[in-house]
Amino acid sequence: MAGLKAVLFDGGNTLLELDYPWLAALARRLGAEGATEEEIGLAGASLLRRSGLRYATTPAPQEASSLVQESFAAIGSAIGLEPVAAAEFARRVQREDDEHPQGLWRCAAPEARDMLGELKARDLLLGVISNSDGRAAHHLDLAGLGTFLDLVIDSSHVGIEKPNPAIFRLALAQFGLASYEAAYVGDLLDVDVAGARRAGLRPVLYDRFGAYADVPDLRIRSLGELTQFL
Ligand SMILES: [Mg+2]
Repeated sequence: MAGLKAVLFDGGNTLLELDYPWLAALARRLGAEGATEEEIGLAGASLLRRSGLRYATTPAPQEASSLVQESFAAIGSAIGLEPVAAAEFARRVQREDDEHPQGLWRCAAPEARDMLGELKARDLLLGVISNSDGRAAHHLDLAGLGTFLDLVIDSSHVGIEKPNPAIFRLALAQFGLASYEAAYVGDLLDVDVAGARRAGLRPVLYDRFGAYADVPDLRIRSLGELTQFL
């Protein structure tokens, strides 16, 4: 991309991802025989796509755990768990998120480190804009990604959430760049791509699990692909 000076990323389901091996093992223990990481990922990505902004913006603290349980019960059902087992799946996911020191967003996405390292070596500015609960930078650090990032904007620190273009403009202002000098990579069409486009950045849809096969937008299936056309 000619004239590109910065690449900004979404956090959850883009640079960071859920511990899919742990989720798949739990689903198998609860009766979803043969459940795979990819099935769970696709069920989650499809749910997020269908739900629009419902799970993509930060809920009030008192609603956060019921939304986690609701979404993971739906994912459990989608991968074949009976209703009682799906509810148990959701409860154990919630408990893991509460009790594990890194929560559930504890894995760097595949190829994230190599990709960030390569973009950094090209002297691109790198940053994250995340709809999060104030812990985005902490999670990125724990996953070993913070060291590559020049900027992390957490929606709960700035009081603005994607897809509001104002949160993208905050990042541009901090970098001192015009919108066309930055690309934005995220996993949600209605939140990441729509918001970035409205703010004038060049949007890239990261569709790791194939939930957006019908979408004509600039779409990558792996973060490694990014280094080829940026
Ligand atoms: Mg995301």
